[in-house]
Amino acid sequence: MKNTRGFIAEERPDLIEEWHPLENNEDTLVNVRSGSDKIIVWRYKECEHVWKTQAKSRAIKNTVCPKCHERYNVSFPELKYNHMKSLLLYLL
Ligand SMILES: [Zn+2]
Repeated sequence: MKNTRGFIAEERPDLIEEWHPLENNEDTLVNVRSGSDKIIVWRYKECEHVWKTQAKSRAIKNTVCPKCHERYNVSFPELKYNHMKSLLLYLL
């Protein structure tokens, strides 16, 4: 599958501070594209939890720290549903 997305540093500059500075070896924000399947190590800025997930999972699907959001750490359709539901509850 061809990947026409840009590099994470360009597309998602907000993720720069969550890219683990030491654990990603040769992978960097300027050579990994936001649609990449590559497993990246992240460090969430608010809690400093460290976890691994695909680049695209964060850059495109906007997943967040699974340790702080365990109830959202389920399959994607369900995740979307629960997230929408909690957003609605919050807004109402
Ligand atoms: Zn966390």
